[in-house]
Amino acid sequence: MKKIGVLTSGGDSPGMNPAIRAVVRKAIFHNVDVYGIYGGYTGLISGNIKKLELGSVGDIIHRGGTMLHSARCPEFKTKEGQQKGIEQLRAHGIEGLVVIGGDGSYRGAKALTEQGFPCVGVPGTIDNDIPGTELTIGFDTALNTVIDAVDKIRDTATSHERTFVIEVMGRNAGDIALWAGLAGGAETILIPEENYDMNEVAERLRSGQERGKKHSIIIVAEGVCSGYEFAKQLQEATSFETRVSVLGHIQRGGSPTAADRVLASRLGARAVELLIEGKGGRAVGMEKNQLVDYDIIEALGKKHTLDFDLFKLSKELSI
Ligand code: ADP
Repeated sequence: MKKIGVLTSGGDSPGMNPAIRAVVRKAIFHNVDVYGIYGGYTGLISGNIKKLELGSVGDIIHRGGTMLHSARCPEFKTKEGQQKGIEQLRAHGIEGLVVIGGDGSYRGAKALTEQGFPCVGVPGTIDNDIPGTELTIGFDTALNTVIDAVDKIRDTATSHERTFVIEVMGRNAGDIALWAGLAGGAETILIPEENYDMNEVAERLRSGQERGKKHSIIIVAEGVCSGYEFAKQLQEATSFETRVSVLGHIQRGGSPTAADRVLASRLGARAVELLIEGKGGRAVGMEKNQLVDYDIIEALGKKHTLDFDLFKLSKELSI
């Protein structure tokens, strides 16, 4: 393989830039040319493709977002859209493609692979919801952003002796809520993977208050319901005065943490190795701190699972 392409797609995540850098530098290290596809699958269809050099990815390792930009592209879900993409790749002499993104982006990579164009998926999303990897690029940075916010909200919660409901991202996965709740010392964590019992939530708040707690932090994953909706239910069920904070898009931005930069560098470089070895249709991941790769088609049939031991621990530590 002498020419490969790289694109970022779907929701951006901090660490996509170091992943792009790793793809470009690793390929050039092995004398393979690299082309950047700008604007995800939209840019692929329209041919927004430029050759990248070593210097093209200089000074981006510490930047959030993605220098290749990202997009959602409904046209790429059609066979015609995918064929246009393959024509563009072939017109540029590109023989393999690294797709950095979430599960939607993986579906695009799977479609190209099934039509004979080898792709390798790199998990880039803050949600940590990709099967086949214990961690996704951007999750650690998002967690650090959330706990920074939780720490600040805790100051106000303590000063005013209030209950705060903090809504965090994660789509249908509770990972951000769980890890940030554990790391931020939240009293209650609500995740979409487990139904909550309002009586239990209220009981926790009451027993905390009885033993002199000055505040309570409740983290709600967006996949459960909105923070406002939960606060309304809580206020109907109890007399606790509640404030709501929806953290929103701050969770997707910011300079990637060291952990995300290292993860992105390892996964991006491994994706290039696979293409050079002639292995398309794979997705890379990390399990027990070891690089792994697996069939992208099989992976999309699996479901990401939350770490329920961690959830149990969070409950034990927040009594
Ligand atoms: P993410 O990759 O973050 O999960 P999306 O779900 O929005 O984000 O997917 C990103 C893009 O991937 C979509 O806009 C579309 O272009 C492409 N994509 C998603 N699903 C499919 C599919 N089933 N077949 C082909 N392409 C898809």
